[in-house]
Amino acid sequence: MKSIAVIGAGTMGNGIAHTFAQFDFQVHLIDIQQAYLDKGLATISRNLERMVSKQTITDADMSRTLKNITTFTDLEKGVKNVGLVVEAATENVELKLNIFRDLDKFCGPDTILASNTSSISITQIAAVTSRPEKVIGMHFMNPVPIMKLVEIIKGYSTSKETFQTVETLSKSLNKTPVEVNDYPGFVANRILMPMINEAIETLYNGVAGVNEIDTVMKLGMAHPMGPLALADFIGLDVCLSILKVMYDGFKNPKYAPCPLLVNMVMAGKLGSKSGEGFYDYSENRKAEVVSSQFSK
Ligand code: NAD
Repeated sequence: MKSIAVIGAGTMGNGIAHTFAQFDFQVHLIDIQQAYLDKGLATISRNLERMVSKQTITDADMSRTLKNITTFTDLEKGVKNVGLVVEAATENVELKLNIFRDLDKFCGPDTILASNTSSISITQIAAVTSRPEKVIGMHFMNPVPIMKLVEIIKGYSTSKETFQTVETLSKSLNKTPVEVNDYPGFVANRILMPMINEAIETLYNGVAGVNEIDTVMKLGMAHPMGPLALADFIGLDVCLSILKVMYDGFKNPKYAPCPLLVNMVMAGKLGSKSGEGFYDYSENRKAEVVSSQFSK
């Protein structure tokens, strides 16, 4: 398998495209507008430049990686003749179901259809295709070129052969695959999101400020990032979508999103990608936001 397609050039899609391209796959990167593709490519270039300056790759590796990526705004053209599609579009059930209906029509019968979804059921996605045995979760971590883990999620009908192909592929990207079953949030987000939500609830309850909460978790628990900074990095909209999927799936109030998170997403404060979340990212710096909205 030498040609693959990545759907979505956002936070995760550009990282996934970067990683496959760096390992010499021909990557078709697909998004709905050329402007999003250009932004994704600019991010890939910046990240590659950083790797060159740290001497983890050479200049030649960088130009080879960029040459391996072709961009498309037409899904049908973008997925022609690829062995694998990794869908990394916005975390929204209806959107993903529509994409997989189209992929099933446009891709050859042997193409494996993977989703990078953080929480949406792989079984539900697979059910809208005529090839549920070839549908699988391939959940990369952010930032993809750096993080070693790939959670591989087996849907109810995912075949052993599909699992083994994706497992081997993940290893060929120098990643460590972990096999998990298809339940809301899988493993990573089932454990991470309640912690992030609790950090937001702690802020909302006025127990401590943004820096204090993050400092406690960084210095006290040796986490490389505090939970509020991590939420900003992931995207507050993505965190909210994942919590909603777990809340709906388990019907357990422990997954109910904190009202402050809901408000921030409605206000367009999505974290680093929108320029502000719990921190302010304007002018290339990161500064704590102090807002009367934060505590009730
Ligand atoms: P994002 O908002 O940064 O990017 C999503 C991209 O998908 C956008 O560029 C958007 O234009 C594009 N898109 C939307 N509809 C499309 C369509 N029909 N066809 C092609 N492209 C389309 O989101 P993200 O953070 O990169 O998340 C993408 C997926 O990865 C989600 O399922 C999310 O849950 C998952 N994920 C995110 C993280 C994270 O840390 N952000 C980590 C792991 C997994």
